[in-house]
Amino acid sequence: MTSALLPTALVGSLPKPAWLARPEVLWAPWELEGAELVEGQHDALRAAVHEQERRGLDIISDGEQTRQHFVTTFIEHLDGVDFENRETVRIRNRYDASVPTVVGAVSRRQPVFVQDAAFLRAQTDRPIKWALPGPMTMIDTLSDRHYRSREKLAWEFATILNQEARELEAAGVDVIQFDEPAFNVFFDEMKDWGVAALERAAEGLRAETVVHICYGYGIKANNDWKATLGSEWRQYEESFPLLQRSTIDAVSLESHHSHVPIDLIELIRGKKVMLGAIDVSTETIETPEEVAETLRRALQFVDADKLIASTNCGMAPLPRRVAMEKMSALTAGAAIVRDEVSSPALV
Ligand SMILES: [Zn+2]
Repeated sequence: MTSALLPTALVGSLPKPAWLARPEVLWAPWELEGAELVEGQHDALRAAVHEQERRGLDIISDGEQTRQHFVTTFIEHLDGVDFENRETVRIRNRYDASVPTVVGAVSRRQPVFVQDAAFLRAQTDRPIKWALPGPMTMIDTLSDRHYRSREKLAWEFATILNQEARELEAAGVDVIQFDEPAFNVFFDEMKDWGVAALERAAEGLRAETVVHICYGYGIKANNDWKATLGSEWRQYEESFPLLQRSTIDAVSLESHHSHVPIDLIELIRGKKVMLGAIDVSTETIETPEEVAETLRRALQFVDADKLIASTNCGMAPLPRRVAMEKMSALTAGAAIVRDEVSSPALV
């Protein structure tokens, strides 16, 4: 994806400017409408690219400036889903949310993010990454009155995601990431069909593929859930052996300030590791040395040429200034370790 050793990349979202959507609110509604909204989203995307470049990120994301929600904005563009007809469901067994209902066969009328991705492509010469929701996480954010089978609906979404991913690739996207936080919750389904559905979504892509599995944004419902998980978070132990044998190229995981035992990375030996070296649930800015230390610990279990320095999750809910400074901390920390790895001390 890039020739740089130990490249840096965001997981995905950045805070939006206040004139586009209310700050520090997850999934805030847009402040603009119609053509002004499209122009505003593009201006915000331009600013997101500019900040990533000047703070030294190697792989550039859109900062999710053109979407309100990482799952539902994709689903909104599909046929077969009724957004008026909402039901309250429990998301990842953690919090209730009002979600749309599947009322007929799902299909993609037209490309969803391809124009936005082409716009991102035009803004930078660096490699670009685009995130899509994973099939299992999509079905967990819906009520289904048509298929009445989570597996069947996931498979339909995987086919649609694959169509979208192929067009993103044709638009110049270098890295396609699927967000599957549901892999940390529904272990039986993940083993039965979740990983297979993910591979179907990524089938035939030449672009590098990433699966992002996390413990969620730093919001209260997630932080409360994390507090119940005990002193060691071993959820990745369920998915990693399957992903190690899968066709997916890279795994994005939480590390910094989490209770994930770092040696679990051994379970995905051979894959690229996008390691979360920035905590997104606190406004405290990491020092470069803290970031470096998290990366060094990972290097015991992953080869340096397979490590990508990243954030634990998206930064949408953070104040803008904090997200910007965390980007700088990430690249400064990665630079420390890059120097150490490329010129090891002669001892
Ligand atoms: Zn995440």
